[in-house]
Amino acid sequence: MPWWTAAGEQAGADEMNPPNVPARGGPGLPQIRRLVTEIPGPRSRALAARRAGAVARGVGETLPVYVHAAGGGVVVDVDGNSLIDFGSGIAVVSVGNAADGVVAAVREQVGRFTHTCFMITPYEGYVAVCEALNRLTPGDHDKRSALFNSGAEAVENAVKIARSATGRAAIVVFEHAYHGRTNLTLAMTAKSAPYKAGFGPFAPEVYRVPLAYPYRWPTGREHCGEQAAARVIELVRDEIGAGEVAALVIEPIQGEGGFIVPGRGFLPRLAEFCADAGILFVADEIQTGFARTGTMFACEDEGVVPDLITTAKGIAGGMPLAAVTGRAEIMDAPQVGGLGGTYGGNPAACAAALAAIGFIESADLAARARRIGELALPRLRALAARYDVIGDVRGRGAMLALELVRGGGDTRPDRELTGAVAAACHRRGLIVLTAGTWGNVLRLLPPLVMDPALLLAGLDVLDEAFAEVTAAR
Ligand SMILES: *Cc1c(COP(=O)(O)O)cnc(C)c1O
Repeated sequence: MPWWTAAGEQAGADEMNPPNVPARGGPGLPQIRRLVTEIPGPRSRALAARRAGAVARGVGETLPVYVHAAGGGVVVDVDGNSLIDFGSGIAVVSVGNAADGVVAAVREQVGRFTHTCFMITPYEGYVAVCEALNRLTPGDHDKRSALFNSGAEAVENAVKIARSATGRAAIVVFEHAYHGRTNLTLAMTAKSAPYKAGFGPFAPEVYRVPLAYPYRWPTGREHCGEQAAARVIELVRDEIGAGEVAALVIEPIQGEGGFIVPGRGFLPRLAEFCADAGILFVADEIQTGFARTGTMFACEDEGVVPDLITTAKGIAGGMPLAAVTGRAEIMDAPQVGGLGGTYGGNPAACAAALAAIGFIESADLAARARRIGELALPRLRALAARYDVIGDVRGRGAMLALELVRGGGDTRPDRELTGAVAAACHRRGLIVLTAGTWGNVLRLLPPLVMDPALLLAGLDVLDEAFAEVTAAR
């Protein structure tokens, strides 16, 4: 009986041979959108019913099609529908889903050994990933890295390392920030519902300051970066106390917070202030890293060199891996045994990362990301010219977003409209994600290997979705 058959259901000939379901995924899958049932189809709905009886409801879902295979820029569900993937599993499969090199590297590794725990008996893959991170992250100073399982775990460890290295406690974070869902990272994450509501108390000594948010800066975009930096510096100096602050942690382009690209000058000014005040500048590049924004790391755009950088998501082609990389003297501050974890830097995840990183470099996926931006941004701007509910078009490379508002000059966020456009995309077989403190941002994160024709086909679907939803209002 195929694994996607609902429990207890008798598998007939039809279940044994579902239509259009490929035997395997990877880049060989036809890079097309093709719908053979409604979305979600009957097999997905059967699995959703099983899910409801088995999985805690707190684990949300965006689009309940159950995946059978995926490859390149498409996801094929258990009903045989082929969907265009503008989500990459949240900026993870930048190298394409089930990329050949990643699959081969993982197979080879798990055939030799699956786990030893790097803290017990080490292996080369972990060291090689750290070497790659030390080489690729901004700055040519001496660096060290440590590996973990998830982005949140990397952020937690960056805080531990920063406190250990500075002997200070306070951590400065920003409005709209997202740093994860563990207790310390929830203190650092901005948005209440659904992330934080009911889960407190949160860790102390985390202070939130304004972000240079060009679209909504009171005096307009032009001086947003410098004015916001001045305000942050004032708050840190006069209210938090610069001498108390271990680290300032910032996403160079915010992810879950709505793909907000800080006003120019904001990041360099803050980095300069931090250097003067003995505060560590920590770039959370978990979503922006590994070529997503058109450079290997997003801080490179304004020449910012962070003291510590956290990475995860795009690092390993879909395998769970995360890292903290930074100045050797800072990274080496914690005592021996103070960092680590049972699975951190799992050998299969390291093998996947080496394959993914090798591919990102050799295929110049940063250039592919820039190309995606060049193809998509004019299309998104043309859309914004036609629909005044699109208040802002922003992003860089293959990290792009539309902020949706009431329209007609009213810039109040429109969450309902955003949900309706996303749902219209989903019904048409386009996976798009939403984001933003007010849930009013549509975000596009295609795999960097996406075929340009498929990208444009996906943008056509987005256009149709806007036409449908705005006509119905
Ligand atoms: C996703 C994300 C995290 C958390 O990563 P997980 O792997 O989900 O724990 C932290 N920071 C940023 C910027 C992210 O996008």
